[in-house]
Amino acid sequence: MSRAVRPFALSRLFRLVLYAWLPLLFLCRPLSAADAPLDDYYRDLWNTRNGLPHNTINSIAQTAEGYLWFATWEGVARYNGREFRTFERGAHTGLPDSGIRTLVPDGEGLLVAGARGGISRYQHQRWTAEPDLPAMVNHVLRTRDGRLWFATEGGGIYWRQDGELHHLGVDDGLPGAAVYRLLEDEDGVIWAGTSRGLAVIRDQRVQVVAQIPAAPVLALLLDRQGRLLIGSEEGAYVHEQGGFSLLRPELAQEAVSALLEDDSGDLLLGTIDRGLIRLSRFGLERLGLEQGLPDNRVVSLLQDSERNIWVGTNGGLLRLRDAPFTSFTQDDGLAGNYVRTVLAHGNGSIWAGTSNGLSRIDGDRVQTLALTLADGSVPSILSLAQGSGDTLWAGTFTHGLLRLENGTLAQVIDRDQGLGANEVRAILPAVDGSLWVGTAKGLSRIKDGRISTYYQQDGLPGEFVMALHQADNGDIWVGTGVGVGILRQGRPDRIEALYLNSQENAEYAFGFYQEPDGKHMWMTTDRGLLRYRYRDGSLSMVGKPHGLPIEKMFQPVADRLGGLWLSTNRGILRIDLAEAQRVADGERDRIAFELLGEGDGMASAQANGGSGPAAALARDGSVWIATAKGVARVYPGRLSEFGQAELPVVLESAEANGKAADIRLPLALPAGTDRLQLSFAGLGYVMPERIRYRTLLEGFDQGWVERGRQNLAEYTNLAPGNYVFRVAAAYPYGDWSPQEARLAFSIAPFFWQRPLFWLLAGLLGLAAIGLLMRLRLRMLRLRAVELEHLVRDKTRELQQQSLAFERQAREDQLTGLANRRAFDEWLAQAFEAARREHTPLCLAVLDIDHFKQVNDKWSHAVGDQAIRAIATVLRREIRTTDYVARWGGEEFTLLFPVTEPDEAVRICERIRRAIADLDCGGFADGLHLTASLGGAGARGLASADRLLAHADQALYQAKSEGRNRVVLWS
Ligand code: GH3
Ligand code: MG
Ligand code: MG
Repeated sequence: MSRAVRPFALSRLFRLVLYAWLPLLFLCRPLSAADAPLDDYYRDLWNTRNGLPHNTINSIAQTAEGYLWFATWEGVARYNGREFRTFERGAHTGLPDSGIRTLVPDGEGLLVAGARGGISRYQHQRWTAEPDLPAMVNHVLRTRDGRLWFATEGGGIYWRQDGELHHLGVDDGLPGAAVYRLLEDEDGVIWAGTSRGLAVIRDQRVQVVAQIPAAPVLALLLDRQGRLLIGSEEGAYVHEQGGFSLLRPELAQEAVSALLEDDSGDLLLGTIDRGLIRLSRFGLERLGLEQGLPDNRVVSLLQDSERNIWVGTNGGLLRLRDAPFTSFTQDDGLAGNYVRTVLAHGNGSIWAGTSNGLSRIDGDRVQTLALTLADGSVPSILSLAQGSGDTLWAGTFTHGLLRLENGTLAQVIDRDQGLGANEVRAILPAVDGSLWVGTAKGLSRIKDGRISTYYQQDGLPGEFVMALHQADNGDIWVGTGVGVGILRQGRPDRIEALYLNSQENAEYAFGFYQEPDGKHMWMTTDRGLLRYRYRDGSLSMVGKPHGLPIEKMFQPVADRLGGLWLSTNRGILRIDLAEAQRVADGERDRIAFELLGEGDGMASAQANGGSGPAAALARDGSVWIATAKGVARVYPGRLSEFGQAELPVVLESAEANGKAADIRLPLALPAGTDRLQLSFAGLGYVMPERIRYRTLLEGFDQGWVERGRQNLAEYTNLAPGNYVFRVAAAYPYGDWSPQEARLAFSIAPFFWQRPLFWLLAGLLGLAAIGLLMRLRLRMLRLRAVELEHLVRDKTRELQQQSLAFERQAREDQLTGLANRRAFDEWLAQAFEAARREHTPLCLAVLDIDHFKQVNDKWSHAVGDQAIRAIATVLRREIRTTDYVARWGGEEFTLLFPVTEPDEAVRICERIRRAIADLDCGGFADGLHLTASLGGAGARGLASADRLLAHADQALYQAKSEGRNRVVLWS
């Protein structure tokens, strides 16, 4: 988009006169004056290839919010510094046609009008259409009383009042039916530029201005002095103190199509076929096709809030920008674009050595030397030095050293004469009159016509010499590829090697700068800026570790404002020298810098180095830099003027979950919005690509978030709620603009994200917990009851079991009768009771007769059956008060409490008979049982044992008497 253009042909003499006092002007430059010759402005071009909808720029406007607008036949383009957005006819704009003729800022908004009588108003991203007029609208005027006036093509003038449309045409005295321009002056008088001259309207009465030719009047301007300027196809005129006159005699033949007064009070005139004219303290300057104007037909002019001048032509758009750098290139007449060395001559001129010869620049005038060597070639220049008188030394790439006298080649000194090499990279005329020549192979000295060359063996650290400098104490500093050689007092027999590898492993010394106080020598190296302190010979560095973005630095140049300029492959670094001292002293660990390049007006940011001088300070304080595309010049004092403008910033679009959102109103985003993209633009046009941004999302961010050059903010997973998005912009070295853009938005919650929901959920939760606790308590209680029951059951069971055990312990398994143990207890108790109560007690022992035979004859099981059968008989035959037990084996005992012996015998007899009558056929065929019983009474006996013994003796007697009988002891 940018293109450096050849300066146009102004009278050279005029220029020379002009430039002689120009430096002075920069020192005491009044604010309201042109900064530089028109030709020095940096030029940028746009056309349809860059996004413009059409190459004819009918009108240019800047709205209050900061956008630039360009009216074309194919729509109106809104520009944010990076891209055009075109609005065309249609429902969106309400325009009946895309051909736009005029753009008129109106309050906060913009009036857009043109073909088919279409008029629409744009304000804050919103279009509102006005009713169409019967003819194409060329211009719109809002008068101070609020009325809108329309200049139309062929339809005269319309104005609207109280909703009613009024008309003024040729019949009303308008000189031409086509009206191009309307203007209201300070007295409320309306001026109309028509196709046939100028008309004035007072109280709706038209009057023709006869002093102006009856030719198309395309431009009208009220300047700051209150003069009315008239641009006609037959000259530019001025109306002041009641009279009309030509603005300038030279402009009598000029067909003027556009007028602009810039902030300096200078006048710019666009012409129909001769480009742009400026009237300023630099006189009448002209910028046309040859100087880079896209077309000589200028249609529109505007100065934006950053002082850029926009020129709309029939062939595209041109911007004139006051950039810090001016580049002189081949297009400006330089010998070549590849500039390796630049020399500031004592006479104020600048010499530029290029790969294709040598040029001299005086002010803005470039002169190229006709420099041809014996072999017919034009030398590639590597180095330059000013000799005495009119002598200029030039080192070449392949042809040794050239001596020029008054701009003509006088002598060539090369290897054949003893020079170290034909590649001459540095030249130093020393104070003693000798000339030192740094070559690609050794350091040569030319003195009194004799050449001697010094090498490593003489003490030089390296033989590839790139820089030479004589310090004010006479020392000569030699920059080589492996460190620095110092010739003390300039004597080759006293060479000291200064190796740099202690400093970040630096090797190449590309350039030197000695401070005026002589205390330090600064060196540019392949690893940053080094400082040598004379007092103790110590080295320290300022470079990447301290924040500098580039480490390979070619040429240091100190300006007169305390700045040190360092040329590099990637632009020009500017640091503060005092700050560099503090860093080198270890007092600071960071250094501020500015890095300037193409955006600042350099044709190329790539500076050259390795031979020199590669940059220079001119007599007028400007710094010149040899670059890969020409030589660049900067006035350090003007640097602070750039990037100081306040940058408006606008929000351009918003996308929520990938869908465009309307940012004209506070945004209400639906629930579930988890991705929000906001794009914004700082509306600065000087360095739009270097605008940086910071954002703050109130409700989310704690503080401002720096976004660098990113003009897009994205938020993901924002919680539902209310937010305010804020964005501010700044130029690289400027402050944050106080004019920030804001967007309030809210993200709706899902029902489950609402507080009420949470309240309810909380309550429900609590209720559920309560319920659960109650359930649990009940369960626990039930369980306790259950346990209680269980314990009771178990206890009972145990009790029963123990009872059973007890019973078992006293019961005979086979018969279920009491066993001997139980009977013993009964007997003891009964015996005791009988003795105590003096009651009778009898005891009987029963033994089954011949029972052994039962087992033998039948079986043991039948024997068991028989025992059980007898037990049954016993249980049946005794009285309820009697006791019976199985004594053991086939013997039983019977106890008869409170029973006399005869009664007991009777019962025993009954038992005996019952046994004898037992029918055992059910379990043993042919079995017949009998039993013998022995009884005894307790009266008079001392113990129960005695009673038992008596009964036993009676039984024995019964057996012996034949069995099956009852015997009572006697
Ligand atoms: P006696 O008329 O002299 O009493 O003759 P006896 O065969 O009954 O003689 P004795 O008293 O010496 O024998 C008892 C026999 O009873 C011995 C044993 O085999 C049998 N006997 C003892 N207890 C049981 C028992 O519980 N079941 C069975 N089937 N036989 C038993
Ligand atoms: Mg027996
Ligand atoms: Mg027996």
